[in-house]
Amino acid sequence: MSKNAPFINEIRIYKTPLAAKTLYNMSSSAVMTPESTIVQLIDCDGVIGYGEACMATPQAQDANNDSIRLSLSLLAPSLIGMNPMQLDLINSTMENLLAGETEAKAAIDIACWDLIGKRLKKSVAELLGGNGSNEVITYHVIGITSPEQAAAEAERLQSNGISRLQLKAGGRSIENDIAAIEAVSGVLKDGAVLDIDTNRGWSEEEAINVSQVCSKISMSMEQPCATEQELYRIKPKIFHPLIVDESATDISTISKMVSSKMADGFGLKITRIGGLTRMKVVRDFCIQTQTPMSSDDAWGGDIIGAAGVALGSTVPASLNRGAWLAHTYHQIHYDSINGPRIENGMITLPNGGPGLGLVIEEGFFGEPDQVHS
Ligand SMILES: [Mg+2]
Repeated sequence: MSKNAPFINEIRIYKTPLAAKTLYNMSSSAVMTPESTIVQLIDCDGVIGYGEACMATPQAQDANNDSIRLSLSLLAPSLIGMNPMQLDLINSTMENLLAGETEAKAAIDIACWDLIGKRLKKSVAELLGGNGSNEVITYHVIGITSPEQAAAEAERLQSNGISRLQLKAGGRSIENDIAAIEAVSGVLKDGAVLDIDTNRGWSEEEAINVSQVCSKISMSMEQPCATEQELYRIKPKIFHPLIVDESATDISTISKMVSSKMADGFGLKITRIGGLTRMKVVRDFCIQTQTPMSSDDAWGGDIIGAAGVALGSTVPASLNRGAWLAHTYHQIHYDSINGPRIENGMITLPNGGPGLGLVIEEGFFGEPDQVHS
């Protein structure tokens, strides 16, 4: 490796389909066939860093994923020649080039972290200040279904060692949601934790109603309503801890939600926050304020999964709401040996080498969609 400062020599963008093989139903949508975007960053010494972003949005899933690649086509040319180890400069350059579009920026940022780890021969978890843990607790989703099926799924998951259950709700009458909540809570074993994730699907009145009817049930309510304003209004009227996911977009919003005591915890998505550099800031804030958080993404393969568990492994157990893997649903690995997977309720960090710990064969993603050099 050269002794001079490294620079980004080439950026390749690939797309790869990650269709759900198992039905994944949320309040307003089901995940169909999102095409994940892969960023391959190659430095002057041929060291390769990988990043990924894949949106599973309710509307226009395809168009949203296309927009990530469009944003990358605008960002990538200006990053050629920059030092991939200067994360703040890389991030501020991207910010100056393009407002928003956090998913594309996150994919670049993650690729930088992977590349830095490989250059320094350290894992991304170590670079993030890891506490030595090589695994993260996982939570598992029970989609929108009948109370009987939801309860049966909750029993099946618990028998497989999963102790954190996230039951989806919304998009139907709240009587059906309440029946499913009651059915699942009725089969919870000792130590199991129940979170009700509505993915913005209830009105304020519905959220308050459900919380009142279920006031005796131990559970948290995740993003029950669509907007930040609605969440602020319902907070004093509900009986359960309020977890913010979709509305937790950046550190200023998140810090306000904590200081005003609106949010009791967060479901954090790396690509919505804008990458690992920004997630690290949010994580430090959550640790300082003793606010529980999770670390994962809406969808995606081994790369985003590895980034999620790397960050997740640095969150103290007492504040760790866990990490989730889309792999359960699409069953695709980029690295069939080290790709993160779930065993007995835990996800082990990939261990194939430094960086994100993945070994991805050259050519795995086929022909690039874009090449910038
Ligand atoms: Mg959520």
